[in-house]
Amino acid sequence: MKIQLLPSTFDAQGMATLEQRLTCFVIDDCVAVDAGSIAIALNGEQRNTVRDIIVTHPHMDHVASLPIFIDDLYPSLQEPVRIYATAEVIELLERDVFNWNVYPRFSDLKNDYGPVMEYIPIPIGAPFRVAHLNVVAVPVNHIVPTVGLVVSDGETSVAFSSDTAETDEFWKIVNEMKGLDALLIEASFPDRMAKLAHVSRHFTPASLGRELKKLTHNGMDIMAVHLKPSYREEIVEQLAALNIPKLGVMEPGRVYEW
Ligand SMILES: [Zn+2]
Ligand SMILES: [Zn+2]
Repeated sequence: MKIQLLPSTFDAQGMATLEQRLTCFVIDDCVAVDAGSIAIALNGEQRNTVRDIIVTHPHMDHVASLPIFIDDLYPSLQEPVRIYATAEVIELLERDVFNWNVYPRFSDLKNDYGPVMEYIPIPIGAPFRVAHLNVVAVPVNHIVPTVGLVVSDGETSVAFSSDTAETDEFWKIVNEMKGLDALLIEASFPDRMAKLAHVSRHFTPASLGRELKKLTHNGMDIMAVHLKPSYREEIVEQLAALNIPKLGVMEPGRVYEW
């Protein structure tokens, strides 16, 4: 499975910077997990192939350029962009984003080929199919309804925590996946901001270190993501000081293969 965390910003030479402001992972060039930077960072080919998007929660950094992505593709879409989310997240997207005020309600609109956007409500705790992938979603501990995911292509499995603080259900499904290849987990704030991390339901390196003790098997790569750009260096140092084998920081723009 090929996974790329899309970059959010580019330097003057057009190279991706390491700062991750927006969240969007692309799996095998066709499925996106969240859509923060989807309209600004997909390459030309991916723009033509990504039609399935799983939205873990409606926070701006995860959906910021989703409306623009659909807008850009509007006249040329020969099939709808499919948005996979829990019923409560779909409701929030319709109420707060695609509400005719912030942006058009694309789910009501058609181009010459048919509908341009379609919602697919996803179950909790039961597998569902997204393109060639099997996915299981479970609630995590964030301030809005949010799901973590385990995604498998039959050979490889990768878990995505999305935004979360201390949680249990996610670890239950992660622990059941004995052959898990990679765990992509958030580490948003440095340790000195533990209070803010706590109220906004995010991890610091210290709380992530404690949380990873819930893992009952190991050997998979553990990639930290969602590092707030203003504190990136500090978080990277604190993660390294945890001395957890195979714990690294995912680089935006780079393609990882598992
Ligand atoms: Zn969030
Ligand atoms: Zn976020």
